[in-house]
Amino acid sequence: MTEQTLQFKAEIRQLLDILIHSLYTEREIFLRELVSNASDALNRFQFEQITQPAVRDANAELAITLVCDPDNRTLTIRDTGIGMTEEELIKSLGTIAHSGARAFLEAAREKGQNPTEIIGQFGVGFYSVFMVAEEVRVNSLSARLDTQPASWVATGGDEYRIEPSTKAVRGTEIIVKLKEEAKEFSEFYRVRQIVKTHSDFVAFPIYVEEAGKPAEENKPVNQQTALWRKSAKEISAEDYKNFYQQFTFDFQDPLLHIHYSADAPVQVYSLLFVPSKADPGLFSARREDGLKLYNRKVLIKDNTRDLLPEYLRFVRGVVDTEDLPLNVSRESVQANAVIHKLKQALTRKVLRELEDLAKSDSAKYEAFWNEFGVLIKEGLATAPEDLSRLQGLARFHTTTHLGEWVSLTSYKERAKAEQPAIYYILGDDQHSTVRSPHLDYFRKHGYEVLLLTDPVDAFLLSNLKEFDGLPLKNVAASDTELPAANEASEPEAEKLSDDALAKLVAKFKAQLGERVSNVRTTERLSNSPARLVDAEGSPSQDLQRIYRYMERGYQAPAKVLELNPSHSLVKQLANLAEPNQLLDICIEQIYDSALLIEGLHPDPANMIERIQQIMTAATQ
Ligand code: ADP
Ligand code: MG
Repeated sequence: MTEQTLQFKAEIRQLLDILIHSLYTEREIFLRELVSNASDALNRFQFEQITQPAVRDANAELAITLVCDPDNRTLTIRDTGIGMTEEELIKSLGTIAHSGARAFLEAAREKGQNPTEIIGQFGVGFYSVFMVAEEVRVNSLSARLDTQPASWVATGGDEYRIEPSTKAVRGTEIIVKLKEEAKEFSEFYRVRQIVKTHSDFVAFPIYVEEAGKPAEENKPVNQQTALWRKSAKEISAEDYKNFYQQFTFDFQDPLLHIHYSADAPVQVYSLLFVPSKADPGLFSARREDGLKLYNRKVLIKDNTRDLLPEYLRFVRGVVDTEDLPLNVSRESVQANAVIHKLKQALTRKVLRELEDLAKSDSAKYEAFWNEFGVLIKEGLATAPEDLSRLQGLARFHTTTHLGEWVSLTSYKERAKAEQPAIYYILGDDQHSTVRSPHLDYFRKHGYEVLLLTDPVDAFLLSNLKEFDGLPLKNVAASDTELPAANEASEPEAEKLSDDALAKLVAKFKAQLGERVSNVRTTERLSNSPARLVDAEGSPSQDLQRIYRYMERGYQAPAKVLELNPSHSLVKQLANLAEPNQLLDICIEQIYDSALLIEGLHPDPANMIERIQQIMTAATQ
């Protein structure tokens, strides 16, 4: 091979620029990142060894060795993992278009997050070494037999070099020449302490040595425990927390840990976590979610998505089973019947833990709901098989409990004895939805209504059609039967004569033309003069919402305008002598207001001129 000088991709140059020139207090995390890469490489080697007939240095101990050399101001991180060829060095450490780099830069710059807290989560952890390095040399020899060793060298500028190497043993060796102000990272005690703090649960032994001195006792610094295989009694809350943080690189505490082992219906050791915050990538396609899957302590797959349903993708953790065949490949994992059983068992366990949390600690459950509720709702919309559990986990705001999260159970407990349904209203946001005319009757007669104002809510209604014997009914649907009136409510206001009303309705029809499918009167309104409802035969409102999200430019079918014959505005309009220009513009404004409250108005600013005309007339 020949030497070559190559350019870093633009986003990596920017990343290096940030890392080199800023002074972070948590620089020590670079070591956690390099050790975690070494551990990943060892995992990949272990897997290779199971699936390939021949590998290089089959007997070399699977371990990570750190060599401290304060005299030369270097720290070397060596592993006997999978190694990298020249092409792999170029691809992994320089050329690859890192979407992670871009996402990281965005989070670090625009959201002002501390880079050292988040770097490991973006798949660019290797570069954190440039916070402390003057020069980085990576010597590597791949586990594949027909390959040559190669080196990668960079100083944090725009370029890196590829050189031939004499590395003779399988694996990767990273020689970090430290900056003067980072020389502490070549000191034996400091390095040991960092390993203890950040890498204690790494599954391979980590040895720390001093250059030139024979290692006195070859004892690993880390405890290497597979925490998930221990019994919960032996583990402290602190252990769980440390494990979580080392495992996810999340600097916050987990909200919940779920330690679950079983022998039937499937053998499993697992340790799962619910983070306390939804991470920024959770709602985008970029993030690699899924659980780490071990088969008899060998890591089979890092991001196994088949172990939990899609909607539980916020759960992080480890699943270890002895029931998979020894030589299972990553590709065949998905189709394996054991995986299917694991998925059922784990899903049941996670949902049960969430139910318990909701019962035992409602404040914590609310914190959970605020972060991940939208995903539970996604589950309600997409996983009918889990409906019976998920509906108990769901929380909503309601007309009588605006700032609180209400469960369907507590709604039902408060419902009137004869109440025939659970009522809901769909809207775009709580603030405007609570003013909807559809709520008039329900408010007047003391019925609580769920406020469904999340985009996902319309989808959820296709599965959640009833709860505990009560159907869910939309207050905006004209075929929703009204529940009993409150007897104590005040006597009805005087109505218009049928004749006057018919004339007014005809006037509205003439003025609005094709824009409405019909105009009629209704007894359902009290405070509002009018409302829009779907015409008979139109798709239901939740379906219309779904179409709106799916299809750009979806045109909802024309609606029916319903007038409130007891409202003073309607009565006064009927009494205006015709022809009257004010009547025409009031009709337009009533229609526009009804559109607006439905969230259907294409151009509200359009109303301003008309409102001014109306005010001018009113103040004459
Ligand atoms: P991530 O570990 O999230 O993939 P990094 O920036 O830490 O991101 O590492 C980039 C890539 O470089 C790794 O995915 C891996 O392919 C390669 N790499 C880094 N260190 C090693 C190592 N010690 N042995 C083998 N490959 C490595
Ligand atoms: Mg890494």
